[in-house]
Amino acid sequence: MKKKVALTECHEYSYEKVRKSLEEGIALIGGLSGYLSEGDRVMLKANLLMKKRPEEATTTHPVFMKALADIISEYGCSVVIADSPGGPFNEAALKGVYKACGYEDAFKNTDIELNYDTSEAEVFNSECKLVKKITVMNAMKNVDKVISVSKLKTHGMMKFTGAVKNMFGTIPGLIKAEYHFKMPNTYDFADMLVDVCINANPVLSFMDGIVGMEGSGPSAGNPVDIGAVIVSESPYHLDVVASNIVGIDPFDVPTVAKSIERGIVMRDMSDIEIVGLAPDSYGVENFISPDIESVEMLKGRVPRILEGALSSMLTPRPVFIREKCVGCGECKRACPPQAITMKGRFPKVELDKCIRCYCCQELCPKKAVEIHRPWLLRKIVKL
Ligand code: SF4
Ligand code: SF4
Repeated sequence: MKKKVALTECHEYSYEKVRKSLEEGIALIGGLSGYLSEGDRVMLKANLLMKKRPEEATTTHPVFMKALADIISEYGCSVVIADSPGGPFNEAALKGVYKACGYEDAFKNTDIELNYDTSEAEVFNSECKLVKKITVMNAMKNVDKVISVSKLKTHGMMKFTGAVKNMFGTIPGLIKAEYHFKMPNTYDFADMLVDVCINANPVLSFMDGIVGMEGSGPSAGNPVDIGAVIVSESPYHLDVVASNIVGIDPFDVPTVAKSIERGIVMRDMSDIEIVGLAPDSYGVENFISPDIESVEMLKGRVPRILEGALSSMLTPRPVFIREKCVGCGECKRACPPQAITMKGRFPKVELDKCIRCYCCQELCPKKAVEIHRPWLLRKIVKL
């Protein structure tokens, strides 16, 4: 059966305009009644990666979230907004993120709840492939339905972060780092992300692509006007369409590749029904997305004996920019294999320990971490 992906247009974070676009998108996929029941307790899983102002385009915009939460609340559901941002998962950290991202103000004196339950729950899900036993935020167990509310952004490790990757935030706090550590390979990690999404089982997915992020996403890139509000019954199919809108080949997105490999999305994409606008109507040109080529992608392209030997010369690596660094140590705390030490107030990485997860870049508040891709890798990949 085809999965509907609805595309509508909105170019500014005005409550009325965002709400109108969301309502159009919801109508295009047949309304809420097929997915939600009156009286449901619904979790809106935001992308609240870190303390960032809404205009920095790192997090789901509070106006987008407010308009959606109001629509669902008025439908008769009770709504809780939740995420486990990068770093520790505790009440103080959540409060800081809600405040910085504009959620504290947006939901003050409303019936919409901001989640402060930071307890964990272990679940077993036989539908998952790579990780069947998953530790999730307990708040997810206390709701009837989950909805993914993601931000359209690039990602240094996954190329693109959308509705599927957004569900990784249902894993509490520093447990996320353990997954990085256990699955350093990009495609294994993507497979795990598909498992986490299967487990969270969002009944609907929304993407804030009004202003997205290009370049060094998910936090150090540049905001770019896209004008897209995307609604779908499937996070997997939504990501195919969203990446296509910004000119990224969906086959190059590891989570999409894994969704196809598992038969969730059909290889020829004939199971997608786009309703509303056409993907090329947004006119996004020259969108900058990161290269995620790695030694893994060279398999079969260079003699096997050379793969290991070339590895250290070819693998993209994090580089710390002294002029931007303020010595806060966030990168050290975020590093799953503890490959970073602070030399005085400046980070230093042991590259033989580094698993290239780029969490340091993701969580640096000053855009002081760059991913340098060796010229030799770029040259070989082009061969
Ligand atoms: S997180 Fe960024 S600013 Fe903070 S120490 Fe690391 S590189 Fe420097
Ligand atoms: S140094 Fe950065 S890229 Fe390397 S393992 Fe640590 S967080 Fe990941």
